[in-house]
Amino acid sequence: MKIEVIDLPYAKDALGPAMSAETLEYHYEKHHKGYMKKLEAALDETEKGRSLEELVKSTSGGKFNNAAQVYNHNLFWLSMKPGGGVEPTGDLKDAITRDFGSYDAFREEWKTKGLGQFGSGWAWLVLEGGKLSIEATSNAETPVTSSGTPLLTMDVWEHAYYIDHRNDRGKFIDVWLEKLVSWDEATARLKGA
Ligand code: MN
Repeated sequence: MKIEVIDLPYAKDALGPAMSAETLEYHYEKHHKGYMKKLEAALDETEKGRSLEELVKSTSGGKFNNAAQVYNHNLFWLSMKPGGGVEPTGDLKDAITRDFGSYDAFREEWKTKGLGQFGSGWAWLVLEGGKLSIEATSNAETPVTSSGTPLLTMDVWEHAYYIDHRNDRGKFIDVWLEKLVSWDEATARLKGA
């Protein structure tokens, strides 16, 4: 990925009512672009020439936090689509069945890990050594710094759901799985891995 905030792949009102335009307005315009603004101000010329992944791997402190949050949110927007929530198909479905037992078992573990992440963080579907697993990370932490390939992510910071679901993270995760999740990017990443 380039060091940039991607254009949203859908209109801000296209995920409603599962995710409101107001949430997209704040989350994308204020939070995500806010991380980018801070990152841009902190980078030197050499760092600006790196890929976003290289930057995440090679920085620490505030620079890492902002770079990782730019990356994490880019993948988050790509992990949803209007009319999402449809089960994966093909090789991805086969891999999920192989490594979790079933799509329902995947969903259950996804919810448990997302709900169990104390405070701010992320849930991830990661491919490592040919095997899928679900990881939860804290704050800006991201599997980009590990040897795994992130395929899908869900933001569980309060700013991701407070406007639509107040403090009910469990409801947010249910709606996310039922109406929002998109397997398109994960399928492409699985093929490319
Ligand atoms: Mn966020």
